[in-house]
Amino acid sequence: MRTVYVNGDYVPEDQAKISVFDRGFLFADAVYEVTGVLEGKLVDFPAHAARLARSLSELDMPMPMPEADLLAIHRELVTRNGLEEGMIYLQITRGAADRDFVFPKGAEQGVVLFTQSVPGLADAPAARRGIRIVTLPDRRWGRRDIKTVQLLYPSMGKTAAKAQGADDAWMVEDGHVTEGTSNNAYIVKDRTIITRHLGEEILHGITRAAVLRMAEEAQLKVEERPFTVAEAQAADEAFVTSASAFVMPVVEIDGTRIGSGTPGPIATRLREIYLEESRANAI
Ligand code: PLP
Repeated sequence: MRTVYVNGDYVPEDQAKISVFDRGFLFADAVYEVTGVLEGKLVDFPAHAARLARSLSELDMPMPMPEADLLAIHRELVTRNGLEEGMIYLQITRGAADRDFVFPKGAEQGVVLFTQSVPGLADAPAARRGIRIVTLPDRRWGRRDIKTVQLLYPSMGKTAAKAQGADDAWMVEDGHVTEGTSNNAYIVKDRTIITRHLGEEILHGITRAAVLRMAEEAQLKVEERPFTVAEAQAADEAFVTSASAFVMPVVEIDGTRIGSGTPGPIATRLREIYLEESRANAI
């Protein structure tokens, strides 16, 4: 059984409790982060902590503790759970208060962390095969740059994708792809990597920032701009990035094969570089 962290205590997962009045539960009034773990170490932790601070500040919530204390909890959970490969999920809620739409004053923030062990995550068979994508209208709220726990629409989208025999969905707004249900979306055409520009329409992926930096170091051209589904279907390659999937090749979009229908060389190379650098720099 896992040991999880809840509001100051390390407890067995079946003894962890939060209030029914917690605003994360009642209003999705909470933000989260998912940090990858490779060889028992945290990938890109400072960047996740910085995005967490930004998400909190956009919702008028403070950081509940210094970054160093958050890091210590992450590390303690890795140790206590013998986590080698997988993720750590962290959620901060505004806290428990009598149910009222107005933000309460003085509620004590909720802090929950748990581990998810995924042995073989870095060597996932899906990365050798590539994944299949369907597209859906993007019906999420307008501040997707804030990493809130209101994940119902992405959850519906991924479920719908699976029901259609695909692996995941990309969401489309005003004719352009925004992002995947839980990842950022990319295409490659003539050795140029194209991915939507940052803004309120997408989450500013930590993996996205790292991969774009690595792509430029590898002398690849990067264009940050919107692209259409038709452009994606005519691309040489496609892929997604996230803290838990790293760089994942996409081989089919709405039934159309991308390139040769197998993971492309650039996506494959970026995955290798990303994993290598993440292993070297994880803390
Ligand atoms: N976009 C969305 C909607 C996400 O939910 C996620 C990750 O959960 C990402 C992008 C990728 O972000 P990151 O690379 O920080 O995991």
